[in-house]
Amino acid sequence: MMKKQNPQFYEQVTSKLGGETLTKCFQCGTCASSCPVAKLTTRFNPRLVIKNAVAGEKERILVDGPIWLCCSCYNCQERCPQGVEIAEIMYALRNIALKEGHLPKAFIEMASNLMVEGRVVPTSAFTAKRREPLGLPPLKETGIEPLSKILSVTSFSKTVEKAKEVAK
Ligand code: SF4
Ligand code: SF4
Repeated sequence: MMKKQNPQFYEQVTSKLGGETLTKCFQCGTCASSCPVAKLTTRFNPRLVIKNAVAGEKERILVDGPIWLCCSCYNCQERCPQGVEIAEIMYALRNIALKEGHLPKAFIEMASNLMVEGRVVPTSAFTAKRREPLGLPPLKETGIEPLSKILSVTSFSKTVEKAKEVAK
């Protein structure tokens, strides 16, 4: 059996929903060859993510951020000959990353916009003006107050603040 860099991290992943299937991977590479993201960038390879998770390579997975590139298409999971729940494992890894405050800067920015404006992409006078000639109605108010409450009781805001601290 492969030596684990961080056995606690391995236990943490295998105890999550879908994580228990991690141990079945025999590194055939079917997931990587089915993955649309891996076709576009060498930064992401689901086979390598699984390999690093089995090896307990926590920093490599959580801090470098490849897990956030998965688009949850499930191609890999449907084709894996071993029944490894790869897409669920990506969710599990993201949950662990978030708990520890690791979130890519682009996502921190989107989450911050959501907390302030109620939209992940901020609006501008320019985009507002462009709507009319395209036959689109004016944008509605986002109702930031109820949204803020939801973001607060679900700990979304706290999680984003922690990620901001870690990213400094
Ligand atoms: S397809 Fe399944 S068994 Fe093959 S490398 Fe990917 S996770 Fe492992
Ligand atoms: S679910 Fe994620 S890892 Fe699997 S094929 Fe789709 S993008 Fe790739």
